[in-house]
Amino acid sequence: MPRSEHRGAVLTIDLDAIAANYRLLVQRLQGRACAAVVKANAYGLGVERVAPTLAAAGARTFFVAHLDEGIALRALLPEVEIVVLSGPIAGAEADYVRHRLLPTLNHLGDIAAWRRFAAVQTGCRAALHLDTGMARLGLSRREVELVAAEPKLLDGVSVAWILSHLACADEPDHPLNRKQLGELRALLPRLPCRAPVSFANSSGIFLGADYHFDLGRPGVALYGVNPTPGRPNPMRPVVRLQAPILQLRDVDRPGSVGYGAAQAIEPPAKLATVGVGYADGYFRSSSPRARAVVGDVHVPIVGRVSMDLTVLDVSDAPLHAVQPGCMIDLIGPGHTVDEMADEAGTIGYEVLTALGSRYRRNYVGGAAAPG
Ligand SMILES: *Cc1c(COP(=O)(O)O)cnc(C)c1O
Repeated sequence: MPRSEHRGAVLTIDLDAIAANYRLLVQRLQGRACAAVVKANAYGLGVERVAPTLAAAGARTFFVAHLDEGIALRALLPEVEIVVLSGPIAGAEADYVRHRLLPTLNHLGDIAAWRRFAAVQTGCRAALHLDTGMARLGLSRREVELVAAEPKLLDGVSVAWILSHLACADEPDHPLNRKQLGELRALLPRLPCRAPVSFANSSGIFLGADYHFDLGRPGVALYGVNPTPGRPNPMRPVVRLQAPILQLRDVDRPGSVGYGAAQAIEPPAKLATVGVGYADGYFRSSSPRARAVVGDVHVPIVGRVSMDLTVLDVSDAPLHAVQPGCMIDLIGPGHTVDEMADEAGTIGYEVLTALGSRYRRNYVGGAAAPG
């Protein structure tokens, strides 16, 4: 068992696994292009290391959520195409052109704003987002009909991509998938512009070729989360979270553990306190269902997760592996991001994006660090 030199938890991010996951998705897309979604700091894993790794693996189009994320990504990757999923921000239009970022036009207001800017500025490229059933962002059918009736609404706007987003792609049998596909196919010919189409997120890529169109748009699968829930995970795991044992305690009389005396404990038992808590993104809602792993033994959490500390019942773990300073896997080969999410009543996306900034981050493989 490795001993840590410091007291904090260690987050290991396998960049080679991210590259391998990208290549696997490229393969699944059977010749269609594959973008990479790196919004929210590459789902919490660190865009500075993740984005260059994906570019080296062949990604040419990147998606982010916000203008600021796009500007930061442009500084890292001068060559690639970058699409910002939110609409153009009034007053910041020139920033998109200066940094060669494509805003996404999500409603008629976005279209009008970008058209006004296009009247005074050439090269105003954008993505056009159609709502086909997600009801979050994107032009409604009525708005598409308005644009169809009045093509000059798009005057000067160069539509580089047409996007739509699936609501239930992780449930292959959900009827909304085919419904959205039908809606997209019905809307496309109504538009006065032609452009390549991107529809499938990670799970959408696994719905089959009907959903692939011209460009896959995966995020979470790149980072090792299972895009096919309920079936074996085709992706390589990317994240390992290990926390050091700060203190061991032999329980020799009945008592309770942690805040609120929320969980009773009976002797004999061995408890290990590890240095990770909810301030690190380790969900308080996980207790009391969550587990960690020592070797191949699952060890349950006892009591409530606190801000910096969590207590594990390591009674069943091999003695040599539960010594002060030994590292315990909270996420790792024996306990996946998806399992941890399940125990916390959430999804892998939230586990990754909640990962705290306190961890020592240890990157393995991948493209070199910038600068
Ligand atoms: C986040 C996002 C994606 C990526 O989705 P995953 O499920 O993580 O693959 C794709 N498209 C849009 C519009 C998004 O917001």
